[in-house]
Amino acid sequence: MSDHVLVINAGSSSLKYSLIDGRSGKATASGLIERIGEDEGRHIHHGPDGDSEVTRAIADHEDALRGALDAFESHGPSLDGIDLAAVGHRVVHGGSRFGAPALIDDELVAAVTDLVPLAPLHNPANLEGIAVARRLFPDLPQVAVFDTAFHQALPEHAYTYAVPLAWRDDHGVRRYGFHGTSHAFVSQEAARLLGRDAADVNVIVLHLGNGCSASAVQGGRSVETSMGLTPLEGLVMGTRSGDLDPAVPAYLTRELGFTTTEVDRQLNSASGLKGLAGANDFREVSRLRADGDPGARLAFDVYCHRLRKYVGAYYAVLGTVDAVVFTAGVGEHSAEVRATALSGLERLGITVDAERNQSASTDARFISPDDSQVAVLVVPTNEEWQIAREALDVVNA
Ligand code: AMP
Repeated sequence: MSDHVLVINAGSSSLKYSLIDGRSGKATASGLIERIGEDEGRHIHHGPDGDSEVTRAIADHEDALRGALDAFESHGPSLDGIDLAAVGHRVVHGGSRFGAPALIDDELVAAVTDLVPLAPLHNPANLEGIAVARRLFPDLPQVAVFDTAFHQALPEHAYTYAVPLAWRDDHGVRRYGFHGTSHAFVSQEAARLLGRDAADVNVIVLHLGNGCSASAVQGGRSVETSMGLTPLEGLVMGTRSGDLDPAVPAYLTRELGFTTTEVDRQLNSASGLKGLAGANDFREVSRLRADGDPGARLAFDVYCHRLRKYVGAYYAVLGTVDAVVFTAGVGEHSAEVRATALSGLERLGITVDAERNQSASTDARFISPDDSQVAVLVVPTNEEWQIAREALDVVNA
């Protein structure tokens, strides 16, 4: 058996896949299938012989995955020549039940189905991807890797909301946290860059993509994270508000007659950078800000202020911090966000070296001076590799 894993990330109308060597992290092929169920879908496949793009109506997730298998045959690499070890599935919500990746069987599918109320947009799509892959690869082990699992290590005092017992006990109202696969990967990489064992370092990870989350990782275990019951809580994101007074939805329902569904939709899809600057893409916000747009300037300031608050809070949670690590689209590319969010924290031992911060390198790197008490790092995240290696660990256990 090879170390190759087919990693699948199924969304409601999309399916991403990568063929990865779980040991080395080398991705041999990857693809993105979008607009599943619409009149015209799109399938892009990146293989060893270059890229291919097909536009056609893609009926459902099964049609999408069959299209991916055809692309492997016609554009390579042929899956016949690769003794796949497993299929690894990204699953968003594992609730309190899953603190580790798990082999998929009917019982796991039933458990993930029970968790649909906690992730109504994501878990059904993930389950669809699992069902299709089980049909098309009936003889391969399939492994679920949960976005919430890394944060299951949070101590009770960190995951508990101060709300009535019945909400907590009967309805699972607690902090779960998300982006766990990225926080796990990035914190391990940070320890590697520091030349130390993950068990011996404390890091603050700032995952700043379209969704954004922070975590405090102590000795390799997540002890605090910014997303909660759902991914809405915490940092300012592309379209999500992050933290706000929990009374705001009740106020809007009472005063404006909004339904709870409408408030939820607007907090998830029309808030964050989009609500403040009218654009959710950080590059667009940066362009508007450079042109002097007041909304975009405010958006940048609110975004960085929120980050700084979390860095301070997580510093206090950890007591000692070895590194602050930036990752994902904005974290890996915006020197301005990194510099602004951490400016003035020298008394905490956090310093950003202006020249290193500006480097256009895409490698994992230090952006703090050599003598900085706390290392500041940029680490490109690689959730697909993390899913592949966790899936391999499960099948080899
Ligand atoms: P992700 O979810 O990790 O793909 O990140 C998406 C976010 O990263 C979007 O807001 C992008 O605008 C942002 N992003 C990607 N590339 C850059 C860049 N070169 N500079 C600033 N932001 C970027």
